[in-house]
Amino acid sequence: MKSHEEAKAYIVGAGIASLSAAVLLIRDGGFRGSNIRIMEELEVAGGALDGSGDPVKGYVTRGGRMWTEEAYVCLWDVLDTIPTLADPAKSVKDDVWAFNKAWHSNSHARFLLLVSAADPLTFLVVPVLLALVAPWACYVPARRAMRVDPMVALRQD
Ligand SMILES: Cc1cc2nc3c(=O)[nH]c(=O)nc-3n(C[C@H](O)[C@H](O)[C@H](O)COP(=O)(O)OP(=O)(O)OC[C@H]3O[C@@H](n4cnc5c(N)ncnc54)[C@H](O)[C@@H]3O)c2cc1C
Repeated sequence: MKSHEEAKAYIVGAGIASLSAAVLLIRDGGFRGSNIRIMEELEVAGGALDGSGDPVKGYVTRGGRMWTEEAYVCLWDVLDTIPTLADPAKSVKDDVWAFNKAWHSNSHARFLLLVSAADPLTFLVVPVLLALVAPWACYVPARRAMRVDPMVALRQD
């Protein structure tokens, strides 16, 4: 692949997508790290991933996150090329996978907590609720639309 050592990249936002893009630009695109600018409006990097920390001490993910091994193939590929701060021979992916092995997560789907997959009450209440709400969700906007003069609507387009 052609080297882009002199090329510059400007990335808006410092969420995981932008940080991954920067890694891939360096690793696969041959960009120099110093030629990549990431512009973030917040004071912390990480975006919705709740990043907290700094480049020296490292970052932690504050919220609960599901980082399963069978999913997130692209993210694991990126993290596999980033050395950990504690041991440069070990990748961040190795570190997280070792953590996953040591600490089994037991995350239930939040809406289904304490509810069985064939819960009769849920199967009864949800269709009834939908049957009540759906006609109103159609009727109210339809009534409003009918009040508009067709000529006015045509001229708007
Ligand atoms: C509570 C919660 C739990 C979640 N749990 C999981 C989970 O378990 N597993 C999972 O895979 N995903 C989970 N997600 C989703 C995952 O965190 C997000 O999909 C992912 O972090 C999005 O990353 P991103 O880089 O695409 O966008 P973002 O993280 O939204 O990053 C965008 C960044 O761009 C910045 N920005 C935007 N506009 C500008 C601008 N004009 N100038 C400068 N900066 C700008 C923003 O401030 C932000 O920092 C969860 C999300 C939340 C909120």
